[in-house]
Amino acid sequence: MDNKRKNIRNQEYSELMDFFNDLNEKKFRLTQLSEWLWKKGSESFQEMKNLPQSLKEKLEQQYYIDKIKPVFQTSGKDKTTKFLFQSVDDHKFEGVLIPDKDRVTACISTQIGCQLNCSFCATGKIGYKRNLTTGEIFDEVFLLNKLSNDIFAKNLSNIVIMGMGEPLLNYGNTINAINIIMSENGMGMSPQRITLSTAGVVPGIKKLADDNIKFNLSISLHSADNEKRSTIMPVNKKYDLEALKKAIKYFYEKTGTRVTYEYLMLGGINDSIEDAVKLTEFTKISPCKINLIQYNSTEKSEYKNTSKEKLQDFFNFLENKNLIVTLRKSKGQDINAACGQLANKNNIL
Ligand code: SF4
Repeated sequence: MDNKRKNIRNQEYSELMDFFNDLNEKKFRLTQLSEWLWKKGSESFQEMKNLPQSLKEKLEQQYYIDKIKPVFQTSGKDKTTKFLFQSVDDHKFEGVLIPDKDRVTACISTQIGCQLNCSFCATGKIGYKRNLTTGEIFDEVFLLNKLSNDIFAKNLSNIVIMGMGEPLLNYGNTINAINIIMSENGMGMSPQRITLSTAGVVPGIKKLADDNIKFNLSISLHSADNEKRSTIMPVNKKYDLEALKKAIKYFYEKTGTRVTYEYLMLGGINDSIEDAVKLTEFTKISPCKINLIQYNSTEKSEYKNTSKEKLQDFFNFLENKNLIVTLRKSKGQDINAACGQLANKNNIL
């Protein structure tokens, strides 16, 4: 990468069209270029076999491809595999493959680091470096799909955007990447298989509603008590539970889509029956699903895991209120690939 050349996967179609027109290149060449960049995941212009050499050279002079590469991987006992990716400007970030019976889910990142600093999260501790580009987010999925085939002999069945970073603070690049992942010119993946998870960035949730998204939305709630939530998730000081409620209601009215709440069980913090009562109240806004997640303590963490009994009581309380609840067994704990553990133990800091 150098400062003079532009990132080709960040360019507007119209700009590339002008570039091709100036070179007197036919329109179909742009379609060919787009296929190489997205569908075939090219790393260089030279490998674009059906483009004339003169065009490849002109492209090389003007543009670069912000291709990421996997530089390290580690697998846990449950075969969850964490990958460290490196960007062209030498930043590192992580993606995870989570195999489960006949499915493989990819968990991907949208930022290098994160501004939101949730108290239970290792990513928050490293601070914020920069947003990932559309091309980099797309590459994570493209590469993880390849790696899933190499390791598990299966295509990705699901994508969860729950890795490093807050996707709604990188709205444009994340949505562009999802659109290409869903498009026939990209990976042709069904929106039902994609879930974006937010810590509760209210304007972003409203924008998703206005954009009438077709993929799934999940909210990292973790507490339905304003004071507690502000302590564990500082974003709640800016967008409190009332504001979040309104945004979720708006989202449901516009899209008719049921949201999922992620609720990380932190021992002695948010795992009492009183907390379950508040959660039940909060989730009355619209049809929903609740995922209870067991906490994984990390080396630096200040929280404890919830006891099995408390977890069961909490679960039973919600079920008795006719809520749809699942208890998510966290995967990849031994390799720090579980929820809130990304950026832990890798040389990202
Ligand atoms: S949990 Fe998500 S939003 Fe919170 S600090 Fe970690 S990466 Fe950021």
